[in-house]
Parts: sequence; structure tokens; C-alpha cells
Amino acid sequence: EHIANQIAAGEVVERPASVVKELVENSIDAGATRIDVHVEEGGLEGIRVTDNGAGIEPDDLQTAFYRHATSKIGSSRDLFHITSLGFRGEALPSIAAVAKVQLTTSSGDDGLGRRIRVEGGKLVAEEDTPAPRGTDIQVKELFFNTPARLKYMKTIQTELGHVSDYMYRIALSHPEIAITLRHNENQLLKTLGNGDLLQVIAAIYGTQAAKAMLPIRAENLDFELAGFVSLPEWTRSNRNGVSTIVNGRYIRNYGLNQAIQRAYHTLLPINRYPLAVLEIKMHPSLVDVNVHPAKLEVRFSKEQELFPFVEESIHRVLRQEVL
Ligand code: ADP
Ligand code: MG
Repeated sequence: EHIANQIAAGEVVERPASVVKELVENSIDAGATRIDVHVEEGGLEGIRVTDNGAGIEPDDLQTAFYRHATSKIGSSRDLFHITSLGFRGEALPSIAAVAKVQLTTSSGDDGLGRRIRVEGGKLVAEEDTPAPRGTDIQVKELFFNTPARLKYMKTIQTELGHVSDYMYRIALSHPEIAITLRHNENQLLKTLGNGDLLQVIAAIYGTQAAKAMLPIRAENLDFELAGFVSLPEWTRSNRNGVSTIVNGRYIRNYGLNQAIQRAYHTLLPINRYPLAVLEIKMHPSLVDVNVHPAKLEVRFSKEQELFPFVEESIHRVLRQEVL
């Protein structure tokens, strides 16, 4: 009896955005180059994620819905050496415990697939079906059997905001994946998946914003910096326009944000903030990924070198432009 219980599900499935996150991370782990996300009513009515990844073998389909069946962790030491996003084997069972899930998948190019339906933790159906290579998962009536949890959901706009924030982060950190986000009948995001970060920036912030971005590229012995920063005249009234990606992962770090802000120091009016998307590559041993996989915060072991490097690199680009 390993099937997920609803109490444990609460740790993974907090709101629609957490379902989207787990499903999209699975698609990325499966090597998808295209991920389409469709949410209805902020995700409370329905969440659908379709990918063209490796798919799941028919024999593994039920197992994927059993708790810890797929755990890739042997010890806590392994936490520091994770390469795939999923490693707990908890997401699918947890989601299926508190919603009605239909998953259709095919791992080959023969058009043959398999479909499974799990509702409230119970296996309802499993059958062969035609399907393209990849996985299509539909999650309906989230929290239908946990009314207490459902009561905590905010408005559709709030839930949608969390979903789209997450999808923007994924798109910015994966310009090589073609991503769409649709809410009800409205397309909110479409990236081409051709590796062009500026196209992703245009898709999220608009073409005008993308035109106001300056490319940046710098490196030293420890760090490699690449991305785009906005012209000083293109400023925003909030900090949400600063995105930082480390070794392909969207992260948050207060000191790094301060360094970016300082680069604009004398150039920006008070309470104005730049738009910036910066990717930094470094040896994995220099980043301390928070042990809790849901958190974005990281720490850097060489921050006294990293922060000035980032600040000066941006400042150099801005100075060239302004003078
Ligand atoms: P985890 O990602 O931690 O392994 P999940 O519960 O998220 O656990 O998924 C269980 C398993 O189901 C995964 O390990 C993977 O083998 C399979 N799986 C889930 N989603 C997909 C997908 N979109 N494409 C291919 N395989 C998938
Ligand atoms: Mg997973």
C-alpha cells in the first residue's frame, strides 16, 4: 500500500502553480524540446501539460504513480549531486491523490501509446491508445476531495499569476525549449525554443523592452557571465524584472540582485529598477543549492569575487552605451 495519501500530498501540491512546476520539471527531465501548458480558471479547473519527451514505458506507468517508487536518492549526500530536477518520486502520486489525473504517453515513434487514469489516489482505468511520442497529462478538479485545501486557494488571477511567474522563469532558463502557456482561450507565452534568449525576453516583456536590452558577456577564472541588461532609460517601478540563472537553473540571491542594482547606481532615479536576465556559469562546488528543492535561494562560496565581477561587467556595458 504505497499509494499516496492526501496528507503527504500537501507537501508537494500546495496550489495550481506547484502542480505545473512538478509536471514541467518532469517534461524537462524527459528531455522534451517542446512543452505546452494549458490552465483553466487559474489551474483550479484544469491543468494540462503536453511534451515531446521520452515518454513512459507501459510497464512503468502504474509504478510512476506510487510513492517513492522512483526515488533517485540513496543518501542525503546525493542531494548535492542531483542533475535531474525530480528526485523524490512523489509528484505524480501526490497530484493524483488530490485530483483527477489522466496521463497518456508513448515512448516510441510507432504511434502506440498507453493511457492511465487515477482519481483521488485510485486507479480508475488503463488502456492502450494511439499517441505521439511524449507525454500528455491532464489534471482536473484539483483538491476535489480536500475541501479544506481548496478553501485556501486565492482568486483565479492570483493562482494564474503564480503559474505564469513560474513559466516565465522556466522559459528564461530554457531558451532551447519551445514553450507555450495558455490560460482558458488566451495565449500568454510562446517561445520558439531556438536558444535565442532575446526572443524569450520579447515574448515575456514585449518587443519594445527587448529592443532596449544590451547584450553582456564577460568571464574570469571562476565565472562566465552572459545575458542582457536594459538601457538605463528603460526602467521599471519594481524589482521583478531581474532574473538570475546559475548553471541553467533559475535562482534568487539577494547579494547578486544588489550587485546588479549597484551597477546602475548613478544612472537610475531612486526607486527605479532595471530589466535584466543574467546567466552565470561556475563550477558546481561554488554554489550551495538550498537543500530544499522547492526553494530558489542559493548561496555562493566566492561571493566577494562574484558580486564585484557582476557589478563591474554590467557597469562597463552601460558606460560604453551612455558615453
Ligand atoms: P520524480 O520526477 O521525482 O522521479 P514524479 O512523481 O514526478 O517523480 O514522476 C515519476 C516518474 O514518472 C518519473 O521518474 C518518470 O520516470 C516518469 N514521468 C513523469 N512525468 C514524465 C514525463 N512527462 N515524461 C516522461 N516520464 C515521466
Ligand atoms: Mg518529478
